[in-house]
Amino acid sequence: MSVEGCRVLPSADCHLLLDALQAKGYCVIGPTLRDEAVVWDTITRVSDLPIGWRDRQEPGRYRLERTGTGEIFGVVHGPQSLKPFAFAPRESLLQIERTSNGWSIHPLFPKPEKIALLGARPCDVAGLAIQDQIFLRGPYRDPPYASRRENLFVIVVNCTRALSTCFCSSMKTGPRAQTGFDLALTELDDVLLIEAGSEAGKAILTALPMSPASEALLAKASKRIDACAESQTRLQEQEVLPQALYDAHDHQRWDEVASRCLACTNCTMVCPTCFCHTVEDRPALDGQHGERTRLWDSCFTHEHGYIHGKNIRPTIKDRYRMWLTHKFAAWHDQFGMSGCVGCGRCITWCPVGIDVREEVAALLASDGHSAARRSGSP
Ligand code: SF4
Ligand code: SF4
Repeated sequence: MSVEGCRVLPSADCHLLLDALQAKGYCVIGPTLRDEAVVWDTITRVSDLPIGWRDRQEPGRYRLERTGTGEIFGVVHGPQSLKPFAFAPRESLLQIERTSNGWSIHPLFPKPEKIALLGARPCDVAGLAIQDQIFLRGPYRDPPYASRRENLFVIVVNCTRALSTCFCSSMKTGPRAQTGFDLALTELDDVLLIEAGSEAGKAILTALPMSPASEALLAKASKRIDACAESQTRLQEQEVLPQALYDAHDHQRWDEVASRCLACTNCTMVCPTCFCHTVEDRPALDGQHGERTRLWDSCFTHEHGYIHGKNIRPTIKDRYRMWLTHKFAAWHDQFGMSGCVGCGRCITWCPVGIDVREEVAALLASDGHSAARRSGSP
């Protein structure tokens, strides 16, 4: 955040930002209240946002409460990350049709729609960058993902309040967004500090009547963001994680966590970085047509581990160990980065309140290794 690049918009003028986005042809999507949670939905007015609400999140618990203030972005995040906007939970990939000569195959592509996501959080922007790495930068570029991604305009809100489940500062993904956004906002009492992160973002900024931010305002923003980072419960011993987790393969903690885990898949559905999916081929009853659909899958399901007549992860212990070791260790080998951005959703939305920070800390404790070795556990 620099004095030169950062501008000030009174919160009362936030509608001007919406107007500017809509004038550029964006459908604006932001956090909205529904069913006692915050979910992404279309925003046509500033009052569609959850003004004067905050979320309280703890392991296995999510609550919204009124604050009675005019805070626009008081809710940190809901169960949805940015993942569904680029990697659709369910989408048709191709249609198959019987012809007189055999079969013809018609690939299907999503209809491009310009979407401005207002109110993304830094951890979720980092999660989207990880999805980009998987779907765009590997040997196979995924056309449906690329089509959606190219039409996303991301407005991130830097965090000045952490939930008890947040640990983005440990993962170096927040609470201030560093990259991957078009516009970044910081809400300070009755003003919004705004800076551009892309040429598209600059084009929106120039359409807004704003003054440069003073050094005093920038210092205030930095102080609040730093305090947010300081308030977080950290993920311990981050620097030793990859090898230490491989070394913990036989740790007794896997049995303990497996006895609690329901294999419900919630953690993988809400995780911004999980990308497991499956495909279904559905032939029509007339035998003339068929459709191939891709849908989100989870490594916690029994079926996901079934390969060539054998299930390679038959127990919940196998699946939990695979998930956590992939996120915090194997992901580094595979993609050169962690598979966790510290959003804490898997903690909040786990019905039995399993906290990955506690699990990692327990797995790094050496007494579990020796106990496991003594007991000869698999
Ligand atoms: S593993 Fe949990 S904390 Fe990490 S990115 Fe996924 S949902 Fe967020
Ligand atoms: S959300 Fe909790 S109970 Fe469900 S699969 Fe994940 S760790 Fe297990």
